[in-house]
Amino acid sequence: MKITIVGGGIAGLSTAWSLTKAGHTVTLIEQGPIPNPLAASGDHHRIIRRAYGNAGGYADAISEAYAAWDELWKDIGTRHLDPRGFICVSREAGDEAEEYREGLEQGGYPLELYEPDDAIKRYAYLEQGTFRYAFFSPEGGALHCKKIAIDIARWLRANGATLLEDTKVIAVDSAAGSVTTADGTVISADKVIVTAGAWVLKLFPNLTSTLTTYRTAVVYLEPPADLKAAWANSPVVLDVGGRTDGYIIPPSGDGGLKFGSGLHKRKTPDANLDRIAAAGEGEAIRDLFAPPMKRLSEYKVTDVVTCAYTFTSDERFFATEMEKCLVVSACSGHGYKFGAAVGRRVARSVDDGDVPRLRHWLRAEAA
Ligand SMILES: Cc1cc2nc3c(=O)[nH]c(=O)nc-3n(C[C@H](O)[C@H](O)[C@H](O)COP(=O)(O)OP(=O)(O)OC[C@H]3O[C@@H](n4cnc5c(N)ncnc54)[C@H](O)[C@@H]3O)c2cc1C
Repeated sequence: MKITIVGGGIAGLSTAWSLTKAGHTVTLIEQGPIPNPLAASGDHHRIIRRAYGNAGGYADAISEAYAAWDELWKDIGTRHLDPRGFICVSREAGDEAEEYREGLEQGGYPLELYEPDDAIKRYAYLEQGTFRYAFFSPEGGALHCKKIAIDIARWLRANGATLLEDTKVIAVDSAAGSVTTADGTVISADKVIVTAGAWVLKLFPNLTSTLTTYRTAVVYLEPPADLKAAWANSPVVLDVGGRTDGYIIPPSGDGGLKFGSGLHKRKTPDANLDRIAAAGEGEAIRDLFAPPMKRLSEYKVTDVVTCAYTFTSDERFFATEMEKCLVVSACSGHGYKFGAAVGRRVARSVDDGDVPRLRHWLRAEAA
């Protein structure tokens, strides 16, 4: 089949990879470079972890996610995963860290629980007296997104796919199976797969009731000299407890120490808007992490990266079919870890036509 893919984030690249392996003729169109620094997949690193609290279906799906990444590493000849595990820090009864722990225990997955004194010996950046307990899970780490994008793009070119960078699709004709690019070129195919991330509503405004676009930012920090070793050896911090909704990725691959918080996001009508960080924005994100982190004012802001992403109302992933067009989004702020698996699942649905099964899997529902 001749297939056009709109969007070269992880969902589009991995779908192109899987479809090319299955013998299809693939053209992938990306409005910017690959990787695109404005895309959700365009930052240095993203977290992979087993923990999923009460959305347990996604915890089980992590086994498939790891298997799909393994298949990808084999094809591209290198592994862009730093398997350093993750910790969560609980500050209040019933906080998200505690939900993650309960989810792991219910699923029978391994974890190590640390009382505060023990946790501080292991993770010297934590502040005494600010948390109830921490726990470690070996099933997690950091995926190196930019390196993954570069290597999938290289693999695609070497295996006969066409990649059009700096080429914006301005319209999709679902009935005809064609797309029109900004210079007026019409590209026709048997099927169009749209993996346009936070820009999808520009092509399909009718999805506004299903998807909401947010603008957020993450901050890169240089820790005080005497805490550098603690961070260099630290697992990923999936949740810092309380209501911060905060996660931290230690230096890994080419990416530095990064802090991000779900509190620091706001609705936006356009993924291109407001993409330059405001003065003091990095410090504001950093300061959300005290407690449980100590001496935060000594951490120097080195970079602030803005991002745009879409959410569904229940934070599950999304697919909808319109004639010859399939729109897919592993969205809601937690889709990167499933990237390679999403590509394989979308490719399978193209071959067997079973979009309901794809949707069940994307929503982590029982089949
Ligand atoms: C701050 C932040 C932290 C996150 N942390 C994690 C995490 O730790 N772990 C995790 O698993 N997930 C995480 N996520 C979510 C994850 O990044 C996304 O789920 C995933 O990257 C989405 O990939 P995508 O390919 O669907 O979209 P994107 O990466 O946004 O890619 C869409 C691509 O389509 C292109 N495009 C759009 N419109 C057009 C057009 N008209 N023509 C041509 N090209 C077009 C865009 O330029 C873009 O490159 C995080 C997201 C954010 C924003």
